[in-house]
Amino acid sequence: MDQIRRELGDCRRCKLCTGRKNIVFGSGNPRANLVFVGEGPGENEDLQGVPFVGAAGDLLTKMIAAMGFTRNDVYICNVVKCRPPGNRNPEPDEIAACEPFLRSQLLAIQPKAIVALGKFAAQTLLRDTTAITRMRGSWREYEGIPLMPTFHPAYLLRNNAEKRNAWADLQQVMKLFAKPPGSSA
Ligand code: URA
Repeated sequence: MDQIRRELGDCRRCKLCTGRKNIVFGSGNPRANLVFVGEGPGENEDLQGVPFVGAAGDLLTKMIAAMGFTRNDVYICNVVKCRPPGNRNPEPDEIAACEPFLRSQLLAIQPKAIVALGKFAAQTLLRDTTAITRMRGSWREYEGIPLMPTFHPAYLLRNNAEKRNAWADLQQVMKLFAKPPGSSA
């Protein structure tokens, strides 16, 4: 993982470099069994250089805790590593420039499962333009790794009623990590 970060360097591969304060590479356990992939840094993340530390991050932290994990157990990163100005959506050329690093991160970690948070993570990793409202809740595969698309926590903050669906998606992920009945360890 350190090698991938070194290769990213003081990245100037896309125009987002001009407005960023910090590259937000990723945080957590580089040997995690579970990886969460978001969209891109917001203001707080840009200031701190850490993913998901604003309001959406607080909700993600709670979701991770509800699954029985801490942020240090899992790995958290984004499709684009630099903040899009004014929190606009990342543009296709920015995603294209940054995506190889996300793919390298996932290849290095080899997690047991990936949770794609929102449209940009799901559509980028799966090369599928289906709406997240239709994709969420059904297991998919990314390079042989089970991937669960679900809503982005920022969307959940605006659409409280969908939290129930997101929780159902995460419960499916938890099932994958559950001990088989009767196993001793
Ligand atoms: N939203 C994201 O998609 N990623 C972050 O790191 C923070 C908010």
